[in-house]
Amino acid sequence: MKKLFVLALATAAMFAQAQTFPGSKPITFVVPFSAGGPTDRVARDLAEAMRKAMGGGANFVVENVNGAGGTIGMAKVARANPDGHTLLLHHIGMASAPGLYRKLSFKVPDDFEYLGMINEVPMTLIGKPQLAANNYRELEGYIKANAGKLNIAHAGLGSASHLCGLMWQSRLQASEAMTTIPFSGTAPAMNALLGGQVDIMCDQTTNTTSQIEAGRVKAFAVTTAKSLSDNKLLKNYPSLQELGMKGFELTIWHGLYAPKGTPSAALNQLNNALKIALKDPEFIKKQEGLGAVVVSDKRVEPAAHKAFVASETAKLKPLIEAAGKFAD
Ligand code: ASP
Repeated sequence: MKKLFVLALATAAMFAQAQTFPGSKPITFVVPFSAGGPTDRVARDLAEAMRKAMGGGANFVVENVNGAGGTIGMAKVARANPDGHTLLLHHIGMASAPGLYRKLSFKVPDDFEYLGMINEVPMTLIGKPQLAANNYRELEGYIKANAGKLNIAHAGLGSASHLCGLMWQSRLQASEAMTTIPFSGTAPAMNALLGGQVDIMCDQTTNTTSQIEAGRVKAFAVTTAKSLSDNKLLKNYPSLQELGMKGFELTIWHGLYAPKGTPSAALNQLNNALKIALKDPEFIKKQEGLGAVVVSDKRVEPAAHKAFVASETAKLKPLIEAAGKFAD
């Protein structure tokens, strides 16, 4: 009898949760990089689209918990109360961090619920405006002539920019590695590049497009397999693969995650809102304007996204191991 009563209470609590989520408490997107960068940009645009998708009844807040290549924000969400109100908006770091860090205070995928994938974004290899190279070939020559003197900015160990720099340097065959300079995100790294304090960076088009367009940075190459023929602004930049780096391909994706144990009623509501948001013409237009492609295939579903992240983790493992000697 007592057991039945407890069961009835638990069912009532679950039902109440389904009825009341999200309630008046805001839903926080934890972004594991600094404000104003590409991941933050996706989060703010998605927060607005999901707010609309939930009938305007939910409040969304973006919290930047940056540091250690995104792993501080990941740890915060892994340990958060699993009530659907604290979510992680992250990128390929979900797949690269486990391979790059010897020790993490959380487990991927075990400590997270996967809500779905958001978009895919190409990266660009860019340089400070004063750099004495005007195209990729000149850049290579300049690096070789100045071996060991140049530096490359990134958003911390395991970040997309770090990964891109690692892969590129391991293929460059410059006799000495460039010094890597970590930042808390590529928003501050971009400021350092614009100010000429760092020489080179690899970053998502969501952060670099407007700077390239305004001529404030030099663009050398894109990291997709082929050049971006559909992108008005970037179509004339070759891909690293076209420049001879056989097999070089890096596209960054973003996804949404919750702490393990978040009730399925909340997860379902959030996934439904995500799917509606990804069809929102305003959101699509904003993302496309920055070179991103909003996901429209089955990876918007939790299981398919989880399987995709697992395949990305396996794909990145040998690349990370090969590039490991630059992992400082
Ligand atoms: N683009 C960054 C990275 O390299 C992160 C960010 O600031 O959004 O991972």
